[in-house]
Amino acid sequence: MEKKRIYFDHAATTPVRREALEKMLPYFSEVFGNANSQHMFGRDAVKAVDEARDTVARIINAKPSEIYFTSGGTESDNWALRGTAHARRDKGRHLIVSSIEHPAMIATAKQLEKDGFDVTYLPVDETGTVSPESVRNAIRDDTVFIGVMTANNEVGTIQPVKEIAAIAKEKKITMFTDAVQAAGVLKLDVKELGVDMMSFSGHKFYGPKGVGVLYVKSGVKIDPVMTGGHQERMKRGGTTNVPAIVGMAEAFRLADEEREKNAAYVTALRDRFIAGVEARIPDVKLNGHRVNRLPANADFSFRYIEGESILFHLDLAGIAVSSGSACSSGSLEPSHVLLAMGVPEETAHGSIRFTFGTDNTAEEVDYAVDVLAETVKKLRAMSPLFKQFEGEKQYV
Ligand SMILES: *Cc1c(COP(=O)(O)O)cnc(C)c1O
Repeated sequence: MEKKRIYFDHAATTPVRREALEKMLPYFSEVFGNANSQHMFGRDAVKAVDEARDTVARIINAKPSEIYFTSGGTESDNWALRGTAHARRDKGRHLIVSSIEHPAMIATAKQLEKDGFDVTYLPVDETGTVSPESVRNAIRDDTVFIGVMTANNEVGTIQPVKEIAAIAKEKKITMFTDAVQAAGVLKLDVKELGVDMMSFSGHKFYGPKGVGVLYVKSGVKIDPVMTGGHQERMKRGGTTNVPAIVGMAEAFRLADEEREKNAAYVTALRDRFIAGVEARIPDVKLNGHRVNRLPANADFSFRYIEGESILFHLDLAGIAVSSGSACSSGSLEPSHVLLAMGVPEETAHGSIRFTFGTDNTAEEVDYAVDVLAETVKKLRAMSPLFKQFEGEKQYV
């Protein structure tokens, strides 16, 4: 029998879809020009990048001149935060980010603290939601930046970005949202959301890795991320990655076109999975918001056992998932997101993220529920914690 290979880790990355790959291919070979060159080879490259920029801008309701191509979500997040902090340092040195941001934001904020900036890390409630009121309370006279992600990558909770952006606007503070998990999945309209900056990344919506976007509203101050040539209107030097940009734009265009259909498909898989797990396995908790969550995300804590052990057993059975505690690869620190949500440390250690994609099927979901139920039973039978606390209700 052929070994199963089931991929339930679409929040980590996705395969490049065929149409995007095909669109990219000529730009590795025949159309290889440097987009900065003054001759016909350069012009062909520029034309492709211009088209990609128009496509991305149209989908998020921005102007093409507000779209900056980067090397991915991490660079865009770094740039938004550091570029704003430095550009606006005369106005103030206080930055606000949520405590559940991606490490690309948290680690950048920590570094800026060492450079003399003040950072407030906003709390979240037990569903992983940032309240607009907590943002309002954190604002000081010298606040120059607010960063709250559109949707969380671990637990899938969708944030009230529009409400928070309205507060930022009223106080003339730059509002950024990391939309890496939301792009291609939720409708994103930068005008409607009222944000000044937004990041996303090609490989999270079936585009290539190593390419992303930072949207910067015209007139919003930001320092360059990379000094060098004149690329990206003097904000990001470096020879333009034409094939990756072309592939990302095509994947984004198709994701936008198919958005409702794909969301309905993965939501059905996710709900089938959640129902199966909750019916078959006692003492589990769905992390994140039950309703305001990404269509593809189901993040569970399985009490009394280690996420790593579950992951290992699922991997043996041909099922690829992610454990919250493995996020900072190799480290056994529990997820900062779950801890911020008030999940006890022991429970946080037993958490697994399942993220579904358009390439998954209901049969795969059913198989995973079976394997998971068996695995959890087996691991609990060996767990001293389980013998001690079984049945105690710690989740009320
Ligand atoms: C994946 C991810 C990133 C990082 O994007 P890369 O393109 O992989 O650098 C940033 N933020 C969130 C929310 C993510 O899920």
